[in-house]
Amino acid sequence: MKRRDFIGAIAGASAVTALSACGKEEQPVGAAPQKPAEVVKWKMVTTWPKNFPGLGTGANRVAELINEMSGGRIHVKVYGSGELVGAFEVFDAVSSGRAQLGHAGAYYWKGKIPAAPFFSSVPFGLIADEMNAWLYNGGGLALWEEAYKPFGLIPNPAGNTGTQMGGWFKKEINSLADLKGLKMRIPGLGGEVLKKAGGIPVTLPGGEIFPSLQSGALDAAEWVGPYNDLAFGLYKAAKYYYTPGWQEPGSTMECMINEAAFKQLPTDLQSIVRNAMKVSNLEMLSEYTARNQQALQTLVEKHHVELREFPDEVLIELKKLSEEVVNELAAKDALANRVWASQKAFRAEVSKWTNLSEVSFIKARNL
Ligand code: CA
Repeated sequence: MKRRDFIGAIAGASAVTALSACGKEEQPVGAAPQKPAEVVKWKMVTTWPKNFPGLGTGANRVAELINEMSGGRIHVKVYGSGELVGAFEVFDAVSSGRAQLGHAGAYYWKGKIPAAPFFSSVPFGLIADEMNAWLYNGGGLALWEEAYKPFGLIPNPAGNTGTQMGGWFKKEINSLADLKGLKMRIPGLGGEVLKKAGGIPVTLPGGEIFPSLQSGALDAAEWVGPYNDLAFGLYKAAKYYYTPGWQEPGSTMECMINEAAFKQLPTDLQSIVRNAMKVSNLEMLSEYTARNQQALQTLVEKHHVELREFPDEVLIELKKLSEEVVNELAAKDALANRVWASQKAFRAEVSKWTNLSEVSFIKARNL
């Protein structure tokens, strides 16, 4: 073996550093050729239409990051809703091992896990930054892992939409009475609050909202915010666009992993998979924050959408009903009760700081 081969073989990367530090031009030859590692092929199923802005592209981004960071040792192929399984079959598909990853929102699994909505968004609950604080530093993620464990799944935060919009309405909402008999696409706990207010909540996957609103099967619909609502053309079917999104103040999106598949990975790949999701959690929120205002401008200036704010009296009533809905949910299930206790206590404390820091500063910035 030539000397430089020898150095390369035994010292690897540190030899490269040492040689370049000495200013030598010559590069050591790398380690002896190894047997190429086997590529782990994973499928990711999603609740979103393929490549849908923010949500679908967020799922693509998790896959891309895993592929890149692993140097191709894992290859993830992404399926849009309906390609491999339906939008609301993602949980079962990953739990059964038909796919190894699933990109969705935890609130869609409320029928299986009563505590699930707490891990995406709760009406009048935490905003995006506070959700991350609760999940990563307030015990939320450990509770989420406990909730998914019986299904052989590992949950991960993998994106956030930020505060959503209140939705699209065909008529103005001036009092709680205007919600009576209103047929609205609004899933999860927000839907149950609407029901208590006398409305008729409907759960539909994103792709079915526009035709239902246009045909008159729905009177109103909430989806996400300007960036996504513009993409679906919802402004063509209803003209009043309401804020704030009391029903989803900062919705965490998830990427669940099949636990058995995850355990087969070496620890470096496990870390890559989980950290790709963490990166994506940040990137999605940044994308929504940057794109929402551009889209809002298009909606108002080009499509003449009428922006409205829910009257305070309506919000006060909805907030009361929301507490009832969440307390009833927590009373029915021991884990939901523990999760709500954790999130409620966290909200009480963190909102003091949010009010003192961000709310107070935003007030100052707007003076
Ligand atoms: Ca929504």
